[in-house]
Amino acid sequence: MNHSTGTLYIVAAPSGAGKTSLVKALIDAQPSIRVSVSHTTRAMRPGEVDGVNYHFVDRAEFLRMIEHGDFLEQAEVFGNLYGTSQSTLQQTLDDGHDLILEIDWQGAQQVRKLIPSARSIYILPPSQQSLRHRLNNRGQDSDEIIDGRMKEAVSEMSHYVEYDFLVINDDFATALEDLKAIFRANRLQQKQQQERHSSLLASLLA
Ligand code: 5GP
Repeated sequence: MNHSTGTLYIVAAPSGAGKTSLVKALIDAQPSIRVSVSHTTRAMRPGEVDGVNYHFVDRAEFLRMIEHGDFLEQAEVFGNLYGTSQSTLQQTLDDGHDLILEIDWQGAQQVRKLIPSARSIYILPPSQQSLRHRLNNRGQDSDEIIDGRMKEAVSEMSHYVEYDFLVINDDFATALEDLKAIFRANRLQQKQQQERHSSLLASLLA
């Protein structure tokens, strides 16, 4: 059987770098790639859907899940708790799907330790100015919150050195092509191709 397990990807970025739109465009183009839906204690934003963007839970429920060992990783970001639950993760990879975790640098550090084969990608904005502009464009937060998020963004970006790949999101289409190239090159690695094309390889060497 040509069965290969999927690869786990960590995709991180400072808030406002365009990560969510890029990941959405990537999976629209390549539907076999899955995105993990995290749990969070933060309030739902307009337009968000429970179970789609996040599983929205209260702090007590989140703490119960930590106690039960439900999370692969979890971290506090901007005063809210976020975590990746274990339950669907392994099944998705075993089914041969690549799986994306959209998590912060703290979660990325935990996942790298637990799953060294995970590949990690960091998305950067083309400038601080454009980042602030994008945060303003959201129009959902006050200046004070945006200032705070800019500071958080700079501190988040200082972790770029910990990632395998860097994608600069200046031109959206180019950044999307860069992302696709990372996934494609990974699938072409010898080990993965060997699993996928085992009968071809056997027949070529017969
Ligand atoms: P937001 O509230 O803007 O959706 O996300 C805030 C930050 O939390 C982002 O950096 C996002 O990647 C991160 N985040 C979202 N889900 C998770 C998760 O499950 N684990 C960790 N560690 N960070 C997460």
